[in-house]
Amino acid sequence: MKHNFGAGPCILPQEVFKQAAQAVLDFNDGLSILEISHRTTEFEAVVAEAEKLVKELLNVPSGYSVLFLQGGASLQFAMAPMNLLGEGQTASYLDTGVWASKAIKEAKVIGNVNVVASSKEANYTYIPKTYDIPADSAYFHFTSNNTIYGTEFFDFPETGVPIVCDMSSDIMSRSFDVSKFALIYAGAQKNIGPAGLTVVIVKDDILGKTDRKIPSMLDYKQHIANGSMYNTPPVFSIYVALLNLRWLRSKGGVAEIEKENIAKAKALYAEIDRNPLFKGTCAVEDRSRMNITFVMENPDHEKPFLKLAEEHGIIGIKGHRSVGGFRASMYNALSITSVHALVEVMQIFAEKNS
Ligand SMILES: *Cc1c(COP(=O)(O)O)cnc(C)c1O
Repeated sequence: MKHNFGAGPCILPQEVFKQAAQAVLDFNDGLSILEISHRTTEFEAVVAEAEKLVKELLNVPSGYSVLFLQGGASLQFAMAPMNLLGEGQTASYLDTGVWASKAIKEAKVIGNVNVVASSKEANYTYIPKTYDIPADSAYFHFTSNNTIYGTEFFDFPETGVPIVCDMSSDIMSRSFDVSKFALIYAGAQKNIGPAGLTVVIVKDDILGKTDRKIPSMLDYKQHIANGSMYNTPPVFSIYVALLNLRWLRSKGGVAEIEKENIAKAKALYAEIDRNPLFKGTCAVEDRSRMNITFVMENPDHEKPFLKLAEEHGIIGIKGHRSVGGFRASMYNALSITSVHALVEVMQIFAEKNS
């Protein structure tokens, strides 16, 4: 058995893989999901159910639209300011990591950006807590979970301005109040489904307020008006996301999976803190439940530990090159059994090397 701790694309439930494989062979009346038209009633039903499930699982209030787009979270870095940042206006951004700084870079192409705080000087090992957001900001943007560094927001900031959030790596992992946000976006490949799909949740009444000319494919209003089918959508990715959302609902939904995610994170952090060979890299109060980063006290131990982990079926734990060490990504589909397997390897390694 493999324990897949990869950061993304990442683990999905085995039953989702089986159902997806089946649909490649026969989705509907002998036709493959890969060959049907996106304009068929069967596929329209897929999109409608996927949208309904996103709304149900996240308790999305009325007045919001759910979109299935392409281009990844990275395209949203530009699309969000293009739709929300008027000429002469300024948007406020919080810089908490590589993804946040890429969002800032793209927004600067579109308009004025005010970076309210950054933890870059500490290699993004914590989330800044005190900063001022000018009341005339078009919006405030932050990244709810910093996939590379392993920090996560637990108290969302009160801002007084519309909030835009990149939730790529912790959406569907915990309950939160959607009504606090104007725009939420997430690349699907971390907790929603396979790569090739971006989920956007947008408050309808924040759109259409700038005079900016927006190309159709980059205009949320066009996608809303066309039910995410302005052009050919990523049919297979949406279908597999639907299968995964059904799986999540069958597990009891986001509140239930959140309990599991808390237990999983607790188990691994407890070992990182207990085991004298390992140490966490982030401020304790900001420790992510999705991406757990740690290093070894003795860097010479890292290669042999990685090798031992691989021998035990543990894959995907090598840290991002900008942090080093290790990163265990523990998305919804990763079972606590896999976390226990990692903890056990850490203990075996410590016994052999201390
Ligand atoms: C993975 C990730 C991205 C990049 O997503 P793409 O879909 O590859 O563009 C952006 N933000 C966060 C927080 C991520 O984890």
